[in-house]
Amino acid sequence: MAGSGTLSAFRLPPLPTIREIIKLFRLQAAKQLSQNFLLDLRLTDKIVKKAGNLTDAYVYEVGPGPGGITRSILNANVAELLVVEKDSRFIPGLQMLSDAAPGKLRIVHGDVLTFKVERAFPESLKRQWEDDPPNVHIIGNLPFNVSTPLIVKWLENVSCRDGPFIYGRTQMMLTFQKEVAERLTANTGSKQRSRLSIMAQYLCNVQHIFTIPGQAFVPKPEVDVGVVHFTPLVQPRIEQPFKLVEKVVQNAFQFRRKYCYRGLGQKPHLSTLSLVP
Ligand code: SAM
Repeated sequence: MAGSGTLSAFRLPPLPTIREIIKLFRLQAAKQLSQNFLLDLRLTDKIVKKAGNLTDAYVYEVGPGPGGITRSILNANVAELLVVEKDSRFIPGLQMLSDAAPGKLRIVHGDVLTFKVERAFPESLKRQWEDDPPNVHIIGNLPFNVSTPLIVKWLENVSCRDGPFIYGRTQMMLTFQKEVAERLTANTGSKQRSRLSIMAQYLCNVQHIFTIPGQAFVPKPEVDVGVVHFTPLVQPRIEQPFKLVEKVVQNAFQFRRKYCYRGLGQKPHLSTLSLVP
């Protein structure tokens, strides 16, 4: 017999498909904004399922667009979903989802690069850094030109334990161009090992969970897409300020495929830092 938790699980009522929503609200993707939508709800369900157990979680979705991932998150029995979308054309479609999930979806028309999520969720969610991660999750499929600067900004937030990490070791599930996902997760000695690998891995446990072929998106991007999961580490692998690590790593990698001591030699006192996590 199903437990009471299962019986009380929230499900969205039947709704128009994402394709119909796109038609209804005239949401043709703006190519110059690199908008590529996921219409297959089995794929959006997979992204959300792999993000972890979202029961009673507070979730921050960045760039919801027509709302495919948004629907999957709402069906995961979350306490609250906050979405931040820059393009106003998507707001009415998201409002429709909010009406279908009363009290669960908060919509902000704004920019994820400046939005202050640290003020958005209840204080009671905060955990000590050493504790298990809080029940706060970040999920998003953003344009590639936004996801890379955003993860660099958030990695700095991890190192300072501020921004989304004011709640503790908030977990993130984000999409990147496959090549960037491979760089984020590349091991020492791998050809893809790069600045991003070190910056991400000295602060987080980073996993390339799966790859979504380009043809799953509408319109189809030039490249495949990697879905990457980040859990901040209790103990960073390098105990130095973020900006210093960034500078050393930048120098070390500026003569890629040559000898990294040429780059490090420019600032000899920095070369004492361990770059190999
Ligand atoms: N998440 C949806 C999906 O998977 O179908 C849409 C993906 S589309 C690649 C990226 C979305 O992020 C678009 O809706 C776009 O308007 C939004 N977006 C782009 N830059 C943004 C920013 N700086 N802040 C908030 N949303 C942004």
